[in-house]
Amino acid sequence: MSIPDETTLTSLTAIEQAVHDCTACPLAVGRLTAVPGDGDPHSEVLFVGEGPGQKEDESGHPFVGAAGKFLDELLAAIGKTRADVFVTNIVKCRPPGNRDPEPDEIKTCTDLFLWKQIKLMSPKLICTLGRHSMSLFFPAEMKISQIHGQPKRVRGQVVLPLYHPAAALYNGSMRQTLLYDFKKIPLVLKKIQSA
Ligand code: URA
Repeated sequence: MSIPDETTLTSLTAIEQAVHDCTACPLAVGRLTAVPGDGDPHSEVLFVGEGPGQKEDESGHPFVGAAGKFLDELLAAIGKTRADVFVTNIVKCRPPGNRDPEPDEIKTCTDLFLWKQIKLMSPKLICTLGRHSMSLFFPAEMKISQIHGQPKRVRGQVVLPLYHPAAALYNGSMRQTLLYDFKKIPLVLKKIQSA
């Protein structure tokens, strides 16, 4: 088992390399390719999804499957493309059979990588996608149905919890809700800038 030397993880490039080399948790065993995340590391907005699925595991890029296509549509609705934002996940390797990541896998991966990515990128706004990502920033007992679309300052960052695009994909009303919440992103950014 190779656990990255944390003292070397002081740049996004170093983190990206360490993600590819990492065997710190059992998810490393079943992966084809780890997925560190991509986009503009200087973006004001960071999206945090759950974990790579099959297509992401094959390609090494986040949100390239059906949910990714929907994410592109949502971004287009606010005049943005993937190149304008940074997209990553709470775990960087695909959980086998697309099961939920285990709490200890989430803890290992976020302590090693996500918190450091956030610190280095220092985005104005973090948008969580889905309940696992939401639970990292909000107490676990909070329900996504109750707090989606409501920005809050947590851990020194403004965080906007959003539904996961995969959950909304085939659910007409959730799709509309996600689109509605997404359209708050430019307004929230404006508010942060003028605060
Ligand atoms: N779902 C996620 O949460 N992340 C991805 O990268 C793809 C699908």
